[in-house]
Amino acid sequence: MNNLQLSNFIGGEYSAPVNGAYLPLYNPATGAAYGQVPDSSSADVQAAYKAAKQAFPAWSVTPAEQRFQVLNRIAELIDERREELARAESKDQGKPVWLARNEMIRSAQNFRFFATAAMQFASESHAMEDKAINYTLRQPIGVVGCISPWNLPLYLFSWKIAPALAAGNCVIAKPSEFTPVTAWMLGQICQDAGLPAGVLNIVQGLGPSVGQSMVEHPGIKAISFTGGTATGKHLAATAAPMFKKLSLELGGKNPNMIFADAQLDKAVKTTVSSSFLNQGEICLCGSRVFIERSVYEEVKTQLVQAAKEMKVGPPDAEDIRMGAIVSKPHYEKVLSYIELAKQEGATVLAGGLAVFPEGHEQGWYIAPTILENLAFDCRCNQEEIFGPVITLTPFDTEEEVLMMANSTEYGLAATLWTENLTRAHRMASQLQMGIVWINCWLLRDLRTPFGGAKSSGVGREGGWEAMRFFTEPKNVCVSLS
Ligand code: NDP
Repeated sequence: MNNLQLSNFIGGEYSAPVNGAYLPLYNPATGAAYGQVPDSSSADVQAAYKAAKQAFPAWSVTPAEQRFQVLNRIAELIDERREELARAESKDQGKPVWLARNEMIRSAQNFRFFATAAMQFASESHAMEDKAINYTLRQPIGVVGCISPWNLPLYLFSWKIAPALAAGNCVIAKPSEFTPVTAWMLGQICQDAGLPAGVLNIVQGLGPSVGQSMVEHPGIKAISFTGGTATGKHLAATAAPMFKKLSLELGGKNPNMIFADAQLDKAVKTTVSSSFLNQGEICLCGSRVFIERSVYEEVKTQLVQAAKEMKVGPPDAEDIRMGAIVSKPHYEKVLSYIELAKQEGATVLAGGLAVFPEGHEQGWYIAPTILENLAFDCRCNQEEIFGPVITLTPFDTEEEVLMMANSTEYGLAATLWTENLTRAHRMASQLQMGIVWINCWLLRDLRTPFGGAKSSGVGREGGWEAMRFFTEPKNVCVSLS
């Protein structure tokens, strides 16, 4: 797949961007360009809108069973093409190929899950004794926009598109220009699955041009966005005067709290994953690890040893634990935070530097990094780094760790390790987060509400929450007299 030339997918056909402009596509493993992605403009968004608008009347009344069949077929085709998709994703994003395989399974699950949701989605009804009966129609919104980031490319893309289509909308979707390949491949899969032309349109390009045009477009009535908090803020300000429906899944700075009474082996093993899986580029990674003082040294020793043993290397090697960082700017950003941490007084316990695997010296690799001796309110403990960097902080009491955990502007997810049941529930209710995991991490049930509090977002995705977001409720009140 060298000199890969990507295109947009509009009205059921692959097409070049109207302006003929392209951006280079980089392989994080080598730092070299290996293809081109359209640098589309508002003209392509307009063409996608026209196609989506035209497809909407028929798709919105397509029987639920037919929508189920098409979405389920998309899931089957993703499964059939898993290896090819996983290799493409790994090359594009830098993640280990074994991890990309898991994400392809989960991408198929997203389509399968919302295929069945299309069949099960039902209206509420409220009877008013002998006076009236209310029923609530949940109608598709029309043309909606889905904008996704680069960390879990096809997974997050499908997490938005699947419910939007299941609810009967037509979609304009934009993947990140850093990781556009599997979204491009999805166009063909949708076509093969029999999704009618124009129901899903994929416009490739930059956020400030394509994404911005989508948010500004008066005909796109709802936007589901996953990305950084600063972008989310800008998007909300743009969309507000048009009263667009918005779902924003934004950044995180998640606390991972380990109490002395926890099953420490399990806590340490999972913490290694929750710190460094996908090079730490998962919004749910626990970047601030708080450890009760009596077990601090013991847990620290084990984490440092695990980090030092972790193999970092080219993503297509099956035996590596961490691959490459997604892009040069992000690689530089993560390294600059490590420098900042040192200025803030950090002790580097593991990593702290770039890695240059043999034969891949120009790629963007960073060693799993563990820092300590940082104040809980310093920049490195407050700002999202979104890379393989964690900080360790000891604590003495439940009140203290709760205060530190809640001290950032973010509120996405927390992990709690304790065998004390009452403490676990007490803390879960006091953590200002959208998601709390107790004695586990990243255990996901697609029916549960997913999203963040505070600056981590607005709204929830998953299960009925997503189906409700992508529909407009209309109450109908029928008098019985
Ligand atoms: P960005 O906010 O930079 O980008 C996200 C998407 O928005 C990209 O497709 C981007 O395009 C696009 N975009 C950029 N500017 C605009 C604009 N003005 N209008 C519309 N769209 C725009 O985030 P990253 O891609 O860097 O992703 C990392 C971030 O995502 C992290 O903060 C992470 O925490 C967050 N995230 C949150 C999750 C959650 O569920 N809460 C899950 C996963 C990630 P382009 O790439 O072309 O700039």
